Amino acid sequence: MLSQLLATLVGLVAGAALRPVVVALAVPAGQPPHITCPACSPQPVPAVSPHVLRPLPPSGRCPNCRGRLCAPWLPELTTAAAFAVVAAGGAVGWYAVAQYWIALLGAGLLLIDSAVQRLPNPLTLAAAVGTLALLTAASARHEAGSLLRAAVVAAAAGGLFTVFAVLGTTGLGDAKLAISLGAVLGWHSWQAAVLALVLTYLLGATAAVLLLLTQRGHRKSTLAFGPFLIIGTLGAALITSS
Ligand SMILES: [Zn+2]
Repeated sequence: MLSQLLATLVGLVAGAALRPVVVALAVPAGQPPHITCPACSPQPVPAVSPHVLRPLPPSGRCPNCRGRLCAPWLPELTTAAAFAVVAAGGAVGWYAVAQYWIALLGAGLLLIDSAVQRLPNPLTLAAAVGTLALLTAASARHEAGSLLRAAVVAAAAGGLFTVFAVLGTTGLGDAKLAISLGAVLGWHSWQAAVLALVLTYLLGATAAVLLLLTQRGHRKSTLAFGPFLIIGTLGAALITSS
């Protein structure tokens, strides 16, 4: 219980650090990152500028012109919820760090994909590289799990979603994201990976039906798939942990 509370608090702080990244990358494909406030400072500055990581208040408003950049408290609460789910699973060691890494970047990707229907490369690639490095560290420490199975599931998930992307059912960003999600699930078990896939499609189908029933969407509407992948992964990791 104490570890869950601590993880939730760390999630709130990590979510605050994530906010400028979400604001910067939540732009339509082909547009440069919003590394300055588009309302009061529309001139683009170099991507390496420290402005990228300038803290933004939880109100989600620009400190200069008070223009709305992001919904209030959204990154903080999303990350805190993701961290609480990871803590509830009770994983330990480098495998736990890999799960928190997925939870942090997953929270950012979930918000960005929901807003602009894309999964930016800097986050999906950081998720893949970081997860594989952390699971390699877990393997070196002889933690319970299999690095070989993690690599096989990562490759299979990436390959499967690349085929889906070619068929046009999901995007290429989903395929890149599936590599890190597959790795962390595969480290645990084959069952976790299969369960995550089932949960992802159940969540996606439920959301699609709800959108149609509430007449917010129509049959040709596209639905951001990344959030379902991330929630399905965290859910499967939690269910199979006990
Ligand atoms: Zn501004």
